[in-house]
Amino acid sequence: MPYQYDLGLGQKIYLDNSGSTTVMTLASSSSGQQQQSGTQVQTGTWTEVPQAARIDGGVLLRCVTAQGVFVWQVQGTQIGIADIAAWPADQAVALQPTEAGPAPMQPMAPIQPMTPLEPMAPMTMGNMRMSTNPMTMQMGNTMLSMGNDEAPKAKQFCTQCGSAIQAGDRFCGSCGHQLQ
Ligand SMILES: [Zn+2]
Repeated sequence: MPYQYDLGLGQKIYLDNSGSTTVMTLASSSSGQQQQSGTQVQTGTWTEVPQAARIDGGVLLRCVTAQGVFVWQVQGTQIGIADIAAWPADQAVALQPTEAGPAPMQPMAPIQPMTPLEPMAPMTMGNMRMSTNPMTMQMGNTMLSMGNDEAPKAKQFCTQCGSAIQAGDRFCGSCGHQLQ
């Protein structure tokens, strides 16, 4: 579990012990900008909760492992090795465990699904009327239709017997009357 320490001025430091490595992540947020920098040090496994202490010009961090005592100084956005002798034990505080750990880098805003286009409402201008699906346009008595193969065919009838005939027929299918 990572530990955190609030450095103030929008800066936080997170310490985590991953295997034999101490991972330090310095997270700062100013003017809405999130910045992170970090360093990893081979320290061995912590045997104590890491501690922090405020000193002039920064903050000291201290980890204790089977391999020894490690003290680092955080100054601005820099993390450097500090002199163990400088550790002010009487000012030290234990870091607070945190579930969250360093905030992940600002995620991209999720892409919103496209809103399907609403079917166009029938539009009327003067005597012209348009509507979609199927696309039709009506101007006065003239109806144009697109995307629709069923163009209306004028019905024709045999002039002799009155049976329905196909446009282009030369003879009536019922009585044989010559049509053209
Ligand atoms: Zn006929």
